[in-house]
Amino acid sequence: QLNQSYIGRFAPSPTGPLHAGSLVAALASYLDARAHHGTWLVRIEDIDEGRSVPGAAEGILALLDALGMHADGEVVWQSSRKHLYQAAADRIAAHTYPCGCNRREIADSRLGVAPDGAAIYPGTCRHGLREGRSMRSLRLRVPEPGYDVIGFHDRFAGEVTQRLNGESGDFVLKRADGFWAYQLAVVVDDAEQGVTDVVRGADLLDSTPRQIFLQRVLGVPTPRYLHVPVVRNENGEKLSKQTGALAVAPGDVQSDDTAAVAALLQAARFLGLPLEQAASLDAFWRAAIPAWSRLLAAREGAGRG
Ligand code: GLU
Repeated sequence: QLNQSYIGRFAPSPTGPLHAGSLVAALASYLDARAHHGTWLVRIEDIDEGRSVPGAAEGILALLDALGMHADGEVVWQSSRKHLYQAAADRIAAHTYPCGCNRREIADSRLGVAPDGAAIYPGTCRHGLREGRSMRSLRLRVPEPGYDVIGFHDRFAGEVTQRLNGESGDFVLKRADGFWAYQLAVVVDDAEQGVTDVVRGADLLDSTPRQIFLQRVLGVPTPRYLHVPVVRNENGEKLSKQTGALAVAPGDVQSDDTAAVAALLQAARFLGLPLEQAASLDAFWRAAIPAWSRLLAAREGAGRG
């Protein structure tokens, strides 16, 4: 029996094994779901098939299980849901247009780059492809400046606002390489799975306004959001699955609880949970779930004051 009033999810891209940063995101989403007596789903975001590493998804799933994070319901894989992304794009065709620009041309317009590194699109193909050009990507039209401000309350980061024109411009729903864009897939899946609460790393905070805008165009509900701080290495860089330290070596967690508890404690302390050493996985979870509730209550109390 799934609790429908809280549905959360962890949505890793299988570009490598679970590292210390993605464990923090997994742990936060799991704790928030359990603290709300909610449902916790796992979705494998293998939509960018060029970046997916064979076996990585299976490794992530095995590790989550070994750490005691068990999904409620079937794991879904984005690579098998392309018909949903196509149907969504068809439904909002009046708001999209084919774009023939390449990366260089967009960078040359010097509008700057969005926080996620994508160049801001100047709208070149808004009124049709130029002579002799063919479609490369499919873009979603954002509202005119002045009507393009998206604001939301983040349960951790507070109030966030963004002007879509200043920080992304018309954005890509289907990429030049033929794959559906993360922004479309994530919005379609969160809606289709009934997700009420998105808990993830703050590296995606800047994507959230685009996702909220897309939800409005599609006519689907906007979930609550909670973005947790991103783990950085000693050079201040965000950990990536390619470079980040492994959360825990998969072989270590099978033998006994010690390595699993150590990895979870490290992630939990990063989130600000004041936890003592735990003698077992069960003991860790028994302490961590109420500690998460207290942490959020204290933050929300401070936010109101
Ligand atoms: N698949 C994304 C990642 O691993 C996360 C998507 C999300 O949580 O919205 O970075």
